[in-house]
Amino acid sequence: MTHKLTRIQLGWIAGFLEGEGCFLTSPTGSPGIKVLSTDRDVLVKYGGWVDRPVRGPYGDNRGGKDRWEVNLYGQPAADLMALLLPYMGERRSAKIRVVLDAASIRQLKQGIREMQATCHPKQKRYYKDGHCRNCYEKWRRARVAKRMETVAALKEQEDNGLPPHTKSLQT
Ligand SMILES: [Zn+2]
Repeated sequence: MTHKLTRIQLGWIAGFLEGEGCFLTSPTGSPGIKVLSTDRDVLVKYGGWVDRPVRGPYGDNRGGKDRWEVNLYGQPAADLMALLLPYMGERRSAKIRVVLDAASIRQLKQGIREMQATCHPKQKRYYKDGHCRNCYEKWRRARVAKRMETVAALKEQEDNGLPPHTKSLQT
């Protein structure tokens, strides 16, 4: 969507968001641009350019005018932020950099998760060590079983009246 914005539109959006915009990382880790305004017509223009609906009206509990809102999340938000960065003031530029950094780290993590497993290259890589989910679960179960064995062995030694670890010393 942002690729079709003209330089004039981009400049207009930069000025608008400098005044009214909020650049953020959502609780799910997605980059976002939120704008609230009492001027619905202005939001309709902006929403049309970034291809997002105007939501509202939301009442102002301090008795002010109703407010409207346009939200942009995900890759389109990150794309627009990257385009706006050179035009924004210090405070918002700094915030945009933080949001874009978080977005690229998130993307990197997702990329690793979607990589192929080394044990079964047709499967997706799971969790860590490059294993597919099946192999990882097998390894995890084996580790638990081994721990249980150790516990059982120690218990047996105790039942035989020997303090733990002495049996292996005797044999
Ligand atoms: Zn595997």
